[in-house]
Amino acid sequence: MFDALANGFRQAKNRLAGLTELNEQNIDTALREVRLSLLEADVELGVVKAFLARVKEKALGEVVRVKTKSADGSTVKVSAGDQFIKICHDELVAFMTAEGPAITFAEKGPTGIMMVGLQGSGKTTTTSKLAHYLTREEKKKPLLVAADMQRPAAVEQLQVLGRSLKIPVFNIPGETPLEICKKAREEARAKGYDVIIYDTAGRLAIDAPLMDELGAIKDAVKPENIFLVVDSMIGQDAVKVSKGFHDRLELTGVVLTKLDGDARGGAALSVKEVTGAPVRFIGVGEGADKFEEFRPEGMASRVLGMGDVVGLMKDFQSVVDEQKAAEDAMKMLQGQFTLDDFLSQIRMIQKMGSLKDIVGKMPGMDGMIPPDANLDDRELVKIEAIIQSFTKFEKNDPYSLVRDPSRVKRIAKGSGSPEQAVSELVQKFLFMRQMMQGLGQNMGLLGNIPGLK
Ligand code: GDP
Repeated sequence: MFDALANGFRQAKNRLAGLTELNEQNIDTALREVRLSLLEADVELGVVKAFLARVKEKALGEVVRVKTKSADGSTVKVSAGDQFIKICHDELVAFMTAEGPAITFAEKGPTGIMMVGLQGSGKTTTTSKLAHYLTREEKKKPLLVAADMQRPAAVEQLQVLGRSLKIPVFNIPGETPLEICKKAREEARAKGYDVIIYDTAGRLAIDAPLMDELGAIKDAVKPENIFLVVDSMIGQDAVKVSKGFHDRLELTGVVLTKLDGDARGGAALSVKEVTGAPVRFIGVGEGADKFEEFRPEGMASRVLGMGDVVGLMKDFQSVVDEQKAAEDAMKMLQGQFTLDDFLSQIRMIQKMGSLKDIVGKMPGMDGMIPPDANLDDRELVKIEAIIQSFTKFEKNDPYSLVRDPSRVKRIAKGSGSPEQAVSELVQKFLFMRQMMQGLGQNMGLLGNIPGLK
């Protein structure tokens, strides 16, 4: 689906192959490729321009050079092209990231979700998918409201979908959509439904009567959420439609449907930037479970088609932050090492490379650390559970466990670990604290940790 986009970004990256630095000229060459593919994918022109401008500014603002770093034994190489892709990725995410939760739940009383959209957009299908999602993911008890009296089959369609998902559908034949929606609220209150999803009328185009009807329903039921359902296959029109609805109804979000098809994907990038209403969910097929919360990170990676590069850059950045790592090491070496800090600091050590590596950077310290001083990830999960079972008193005074074995017994039970594991953890912690204090007292060595000034 996003092949055109991914190709463009790949071309852009290729243009930067072998270069050691990004400058105005080579960035422009790369951006030309990106520009073409964005337009081809039906991204709105204004959005394309804004995107390119932001990427350029970021790329120039940063001194981008080829960097090589060796930390945990492995070597990480990052090229100018990789840096460029990472900047594109971050900007794509920024273009699509929304504030607030996808669904706002009412503090009291049932939560209202009003579904609006043009005919054929997938509104009725999406209404039932959303109800299914709320039942499954949020453990809610939704009531569906069939208030699309425009399309003759819409009510029956929703009833069929509701039956198959075992979700009730409210409708009063012959009544106006406004009355149906109002009565549905009373029904939901009386019967204890906590979410009401209104499937409202769709028309072939935005027109005044449609907007008036939707406006009246909005005023009457005051839904916490108004979602516009848009067919992503309609390309640039998706953005226009969204703007039309948003100007009149103040949408809280957009659901893009049919992203499983051969849509060019541009709408996903443009909708929020142009209309201000963010994409909240996506439809990726006809089935009830082909419905996902929209994740800008995931979409950006799909658009770029270079998940590996982005992952590489993330690793790189965590390793590069050596100054901070060194400062944290300083803290530990000074003995500011509590059991509560234990986990986060251990994680930090893992990130920095092994404890042996750190100490290895200090002349003359090789061989000081026993081989089992480091912990692997699985062990970390267990340690987390054990530490959570400590009382505050025990955290402040871990020796209390050594003095009183009944504490070890209790913690072992609470965390589902053998008693021996609890004892070993305390020993390990005490050992590490002591060892670090010992190292720290030898302050003369600290100046030799690279990056620590
Ligand atoms: P409405 O007129 O807006 O209520 O549209 P419908 O809910 O009846 O959907 C129109 C058509 O689009 C139906 O055939 C749906 O199965 C189909 N549809 C809806 N969402 C998706 C989706 O995410 N992917 C695909 N492939 N088809 C979808």
